[in-house]
Amino acid sequence: MHNLLNVNNLQIAFRKRKKSIKVVNGVDFGISKGEIVGIVGESGCGKSVTSLSIMRLFHDTSGEVVGGTIQFKEKDLLELSEREMRRIRGKEIAMIFQEPMTSLNPVMKIGKQLIQGIMLHLGLNREEAKQQAVEMLKLVGIPRAESIMNEYPHQLSGGMRQRVMIAIAMSCEPELLIADEPTTALDVTIQAQILQLMKKIQRERGTAILLITHDLGVVAESCDRVVVMYAGRVVEEATVEELFESPLHPYTQGLIESVPKIGNRKEELYSIPGHVPNPEAMPNGCKFASRCPYVMDICREREPQLVSNNNGRKQRCWLHQSIKEEERKTIG
Ligand code: SF4
Ligand code: MG
Repeated sequence: MHNLLNVNNLQIAFRKRKKSIKVVNGVDFGISKGEIVGIVGESGCGKSVTSLSIMRLFHDTSGEVVGGTIQFKEKDLLELSEREMRRIRGKEIAMIFQEPMTSLNPVMKIGKQLIQGIMLHLGLNREEAKQQAVEMLKLVGIPRAESIMNEYPHQLSGGMRQRVMIAIAMSCEPELLIADEPTTALDVTIQAQILQLMKKIQRERGTAILLITHDLGVVAESCDRVVVMYAGRVVEEATVEELFESPLHPYTQGLIESVPKIGNRKEELYSIPGHVPNPEAMPNGCKFASRCPYVMDICREREPQLVSNNNGRKQRCWLHQSIKEEERKTIG
């Protein structure tokens, strides 16, 4: 058990023409206080909907949690009233997204956006909130914080806008910050700066961070622990060191091979052949079987469970699990 967040057997479905389609099917992971955990996987693996479900931000879509629990400290977030949830959103759990322009109000000055949130969540008066806003802009490394307060979002660069978003998210001192592809829209140098900033926030403020990304390079640079998702399932979990040193799941191995290496001048970047299976037509057995170089008969017949090894690492792959003799017989 982790002492901040525990997601257990999470199941998320979307409604499409009266059919219910499961896009997340039995996701388990947790975060301890002050930890940075990455969730990595290709687009469509269910990582973003998993993070949205923690915030319970499904109202505008046809998505819905259909099973499992999301324990945040002592509470199951799925059991809370919308009113209780509003108190947690922003104040205890904050979220930032890939494109800050969609979350910032384009016609409101930066300072006003920060101050409004702070007054609302922390109950400070305008003057105190203004001081807190300036302090937050300094925390995220924005020079000339006072003058930025008077600017509009479009006057800032992409990197600066993302810093502002982080400042807004951090201004209410949340215990958990969820960042969904926070650096994907930025160029490499700015991306590195934003990741450094998130680590600094974690160090100085003790904020736990859940970092959602398709990019294992981002994970290597910033996370303590990694959860690898594929086709709506967790397929591996390990510390960053373990994952890169000895990835157990063939999907993780493929992801690591596709990380661009510094000094690698090869034009063609490796990518895992094949596609993520369509959630409307999920195959039986291991969901990675159609792309796996090690696929065996049993893989197509039965889906492996997520199993914790002796050293606490988790994997969902028949290469690392044995099947009991009597079960073997029933499979033939
Ligand atoms: Fe490959 Fe089988 Fe492991 Fe799936 S269970 S990843 S198909 S070896
Ligand atoms: Mg996404």
